[in-house]
Amino acid sequence: MNQVLVIDDEQDLRDGCERILKRMACKVFKASTGEDGIALFKENSISIVLCDLKMPGIDGIEVLRRLRKIDENILVIIITGFATIDTAIEAMKQGAYDFIAKPFEPDQLRIVVGRAMEKLRLRRKAKALEIERLKNLADLGTEKSRILAIIESLPNGIVVTNAKGNVVLMNPDFRKRFDILQDREPGNPIETYIQDQGLCCLIHEISKGLHVNAEKVPTYELTLPSETYLLARGQSVLAEDGECLGAVMIFTNITDLKNFDQLKSEFVAKVAHELRSPLATIHEQLAAVIEDAQGIGEDNRHLLSRAKDKTKNLISLIGNLLDLARIEAGNDYNSPKQVKVSEILDGIVEFLKTRAESKNQALSIVHENVDMPFVVADPLAIESIFGNLITNAIKYTQKNGNIAVTTAVEKGRVKVSVRDNGYGMDAQHVKMIFEKFYRVKNDKTRHIIGTGLGLSIVKGLVDAMDGEITVESEPDHGSTFTVYLPVEREKQEVSV
Ligand code: ADP
Repeated sequence: MNQVLVIDDEQDLRDGCERILKRMACKVFKASTGEDGIALFKENSISIVLCDLKMPGIDGIEVLRRLRKIDENILVIIITGFATIDTAIEAMKQGAYDFIAKPFEPDQLRIVVGRAMEKLRLRRKAKALEIERLKNLADLGTEKSRILAIIESLPNGIVVTNAKGNVVLMNPDFRKRFDILQDREPGNPIETYIQDQGLCCLIHEISKGLHVNAEKVPTYELTLPSETYLLARGQSVLAEDGECLGAVMIFTNITDLKNFDQLKSEFVAKVAHELRSPLATIHEQLAAVIEDAQGIGEDNRHLLSRAKDKTKNLISLIGNLLDLARIEAGNDYNSPKQVKVSEILDGIVEFLKTRAESKNQALSIVHENVDMPFVVADPLAIESIFGNLITNAIKYTQKNGNIAVTTAVEKGRVKVSVRDNGYGMDAQHVKMIFEKFYRVKNDKTRHIIGTGLGLSIVKGLVDAMDGEITVESEPDHGSTFTVYLPVEREKQEVSV
């Protein structure tokens, strides 16, 4: 409710104003002199003053001056007679809000006071908005500094880039990992802070939103000169309308994990190595006993044969484990030379034909390109990859099935597909089969002997050659494993 003070020496005018203002929902104070008016003003929180210009004692201009001294925002409406209109204008110059000439109609008073009340309302609203704005700003400031403090103190490295791949934020852990001095400002392209080209490439791709719909968050492993292994994970930052604004990359130190993994591999390799010779001896001795033993009975011979088969499986498991350990240590088959994959494949198919025939399966090979380019690889590695894939096709296909091997050249890479119409697999298994020891066990495959290591070896070798392997499979309809290997053009030219 607005509180209005009426200062006038005429009682009728004071009472008349009071009646009108009360109907406008105002609380009204009345004073007959300037001094009384000022005293009332000091005691109450009055927002509008109606003040006569000509009064005994101090006049309206002086009252206005004193009131504005107490509160410079006070809205004073000067009441004046026609004869003193110039003085009224003077009063306006001194800071009066408005004036009203005597005698006035109730409506005139209502309009003038109504205007003052509207001004007060707007003033209050503006003040409330300003308070709200300041509060929001303060909240925002606190929130911003809180988030910054969290990012700064994270034990992981964080770098944020914009859509052009320019760095907009780096936290201390990131600076420490990549030796970036504290006073080096963000703002430049990522490659000016990080040397690793592959990583920069990935960050640019994520910044442009190229991996937005990828199933998995893209990752990248890198080794720092301090023998620290980092795993970088990235995610695009998207606006509400889906536009890509940039990338956030998080770097985790995985050195301990790597060391542990290496220790594990070394341990497995050591155990496998120690077991290989005694097992090979047992296998040979069992073979000799079975061949030489007379009169031991069919049952015993069967038992010995089973023992011999089991030792053979164990020897092949150990062979696989040692292969894997070699690949993981990075020193896989180490005699790369120019090879024609098609020729090696002919040899493997020839060798495995007997095995396929024992299940009455058709094993065929077709070379779509007569002249296959060279691949630079160790022939043993190529044999291991396709030997495993074709053996699997034979193993996981029913009797009378078909296995077709095709070679071709596609987009500058050698492409080899091994297709069978065998047991096939669900998508959930396809995702897992390259994991070590993973085997699909169902009614059809349970009795098939295997270690679950063959495909991990295949994947390790294909990766080491910068190749790619894909799988398509459907339960009861078969599987197709496709390997792509890069053609080494430079070396090929050298040899010509
Ligand atoms: P292993 O054959 O010794 O079990 P692998 O690593 O070679 O180990 O294969 C892993 C699993 O993948 C196999 O156990 C099998 O379930 C599945 N698999 C591999 N090749 C095929 C195929 N051609 N058809 C169906 N399943 C397959």
